[in-house]
Order: sequence, then C-alpha cells, then structure tokens
Amino acid sequence: MLNFSLSDEQQMLVEMTRSFVEKEMMPHEAILESTDDLPPELASSLKKKSIELGLHACNLPEEVGGGGLDAVSVMLIEKELGRTSLAMAECAHRPLNILAACKGKQAAEFLEPTIRGDKRDCIAMTEPEAGSDVASITTTARTDGTDYLIDGCKTWISNGGIADHYVVFARTGEESGTRGLSAFIVPADSPGLSITERIETIAPHPLATLEFDSVRVPAELRVGAPGEGFKVAMATLDIFRSTVGAAALGLARRALSEAVRFVGERKISDRVLASYQMTQARIADMATGVDAAALLVYRAAWTKDSGAPRISREASMAKLFATEEAQRVIDSAVQLHGGQGVRTGRKVEELYRDIRAMRVYEGASEIQKLIIARQTLGVP
Ligand SMILES: Cc1cc2nc3c(=O)[nH]c(=O)nc-3n(C[C@H](O)[C@H](O)[C@H](O)COP(=O)(O)OP(=O)(O)OC[C@H]3O[C@@H](n4cnc5c(N)ncnc54)[C@H](O)[C@@H]3O)c2cc1C
Repeated sequence: MLNFSLSDEQQMLVEMTRSFVEKEMMPHEAILESTDDLPPELASSLKKKSIELGLHACNLPEEVGGGGLDAVSVMLIEKELGRTSLAMAECAHRPLNILAACKGKQAAEFLEPTIRGDKRDCIAMTEPEAGSDVASITTTARTDGTDYLIDGCKTWISNGGIADHYVVFARTGEESGTRGLSAFIVPADSPGLSITERIETIAPHPLATLEFDSVRVPAELRVGAPGEGFKVAMATLDIFRSTVGAAALGLARRALSEAVRFVGERKISDRVLASYQMTQARIADMATGVDAAALLVYRAAWTKDSGAPRISREASMAKLFATEEAQRVIDSAVQLHGGQGVRTGRKVEELYRDIRAMRVYEGASEIQKLIIARQTLGVP
C-alpha cells in the first residue's frame, strides 16, 4: 500500500524544526544582507539550540552518540532547514556519515567531539583536474613504515580552513581509475597541510584550496580497507545527493511562499497581481514543480530506510530534479517580484544565488544524468 503520511514522531520533528527555523533563524536573515558571515555569537547560540533540539548530528547512528534518525526524518529536517539561509542552516550541522566508522581512539578524537559540536568535519575529494571524474584523482598516500604520507592538492573544499579534520581521498595503490583510492581522516593542523587559496562564489559559502606536502597520517586514520575509498565515497555521495535534493526543495518552498505573499499584496492597475490568470498559471507550475520534486526526494529517503544497500539511481534523480526544479521555481519567484526580485537583499534574490551552486556540487546535473542513463540502459 502506498502511504504518504508521516508518523507522529516525524510530524513532531517537522513542527519542532519549522518552529526553530521560523522563530530563531528567519528573524536574523536580514543580517546576511550586509555580511557573508553570521556574527559568531549568533552562530554559537543557534548551534547550542540545535544541539538541545537534537538536530545537530541527527543523521548519525545512536550507538555512536548521534540522533539515530531514519533517512526520511533527516530529509524532513533538511527540507525545513532549507527554507532559511544556508549559513544559518549549517549551524544545525549534520556530520559526514563516514565518521560513524571511527573506532576507539579515532572515535574519541574525531567522531565524539564532532557530534558534541566541539569539532567540525568536511570532505576533501575534488582536485583541480578531478572534479566530476573522481577516477582522475592524483593525490597520493604512500606508505612510510606504519604511516602514510599524503601529497597533492584538493580544491573547492567547503569549510576548508574552518574544519578541524578533513576526510581526504587519495591514491594508495598502483591501479588507475577508481581502484586504488583510499579515504583518510586528516587533522587540519597536520604539518605539511596548508590553505593556499580562499574561493569566493556567487553565494556566501566558505571554500578553500588545500595543499598536502608529505602530510604524515597514521594507518589507523584510514577509513575502510586500502583501495575501498571509491566505495566509501559513493555510499557517502548517495546520502549527500538525496539531502542536497531535500535542501533544494526547502529553497523552492521558500521561494513559492515568498511569491504567494508578494502577488497577494502587489497591486497593478488596482488589482492584486494574484488575480491575473498568467500569474495564477505561473504559481500553479511552481506548486506542481515543488510537489513533484518532493516525491522524488521522499522516495530516495524511503528507499534508503527500506534497507536498499545502494540508492544511487533514486538519489541522483532526487538531486537532479529537485535542484533543477528549484532553480526554475526560484527564477519564477524573482520574475513575479518584478524589479524587487533582483534587488540586493530581497529573499528571492538571495535564493537565486544560493540555488545555483547546488546544481554543481555533489555531482553536477550532467553527472546525475550519466548515472541515471547508465542504470536505465544497463551499461557500465
Ligand atoms: C559551492 C561548492 C561547494 C563544494 N564543496 C565541495 C566539498 O566540500 N568537497 C569536495 O571535494 N568538492 C566540493 N565541491 C566541488 C564539486 O564537487 C565540483 O565542483 C563538481 O564535482 C564539478 O567538478 P568541476 O568543478 O571540476 O567541474 P568539471 O568536472 O570540470 O565539469 C565541468 C562541466 O562539465 C560537465 N561534465 C563533466 N563530465 C561530463 C561528462 N562525462 N559528460 C557531460 N558533461 C560532463 C559537468 O557537469 C560540468 O557542467 C564544491 C563545489 C562548489 C561549487
């Protein structure tokens, strides 16, 4: 039987997150009109509240100290957080699922402080010549006694220079392509690791380029077996892609509500804009697009919860459609606002910039299409 209803717990989670977003985050959005950074006191108070509410690290299993939420519940949270500014949503941090594999000393040093909110993680996969094509990674990790020495460059790293530790993908074997890649947790203060560039983009997002010059990492900081890095990366990307889809859905819902409010207030020739049929047709398209994206995002999360070992097809469809549709919905919201839509500081203008990069990171739309096409055609 097909059932779209939420459990009582999920409904409560949605209401709690919505109330947190609307009462504690949205009132501060105007601050981001004049600065790209949240004032540190506001960021730390939002982080503290999100920890109290159980939103922080809600995605990690309970056994390791996380919130232990299922994929549908995490998706519902992402969708609500997506309605406010990305910088604010980030205060309720959902750490990398990879970290859950940490054991013993590793867990005490990296996993537990990340769950408590005392430390910050991030993923370092992309290189100047290896973005869409992970198989082209050239960063190496060669053995030196019981340690590894990492050499190479990672770029476009979100929270680069802010994070306390990076999950770095590097080549440990002789094999080319996706074989021979391994994942490592690398503390940010490791000798030989430096930030060589800060990257500015269309929307505020802390990004940096990192250089690794013989960075020594003990073998116990390797995540998974040698050569299993690609498997680790793909399982992580499945989750990321569906959550990026959920976040894009949040942005699209916010754009739709801003548009509905505006067209209900704006008068043109003594009639509210909402009364014109062309406006109504545009609103109908926006609402239908938002709901269609929601269905794909829900399905990806539901498939994960139903125990599927991989959800790459569902996650790629959710990410592709939700981000592309969110861009269309937000563009329509900007259009309906007329000149006000492109005015700096208007919420729809901020959404217009925020959504753009989502069609690129965690695999650009073209890469999602490649994955979907390969699985549909049954070709490797
Ligand atoms: C805001 C932001 C945050 C990011 N955060 C992180 C992070 O935290 N960690 C991290 O490791 N990386 C991060 N990235 C990097 C991101 O994952 C890459 O930018 C992305 O994978 C694309 O790689 P590229 O920029 O090298 O583009 P390229 O791979 O050079 O692609 C250029 C264009 O070619 C298209 N293309 C590529 N291959 C094909 C093909 N086979 N067929 C058709 N078209 C193709 C692409 O879709 C794209 O349109 C981030 C990027 C951005 C913009």
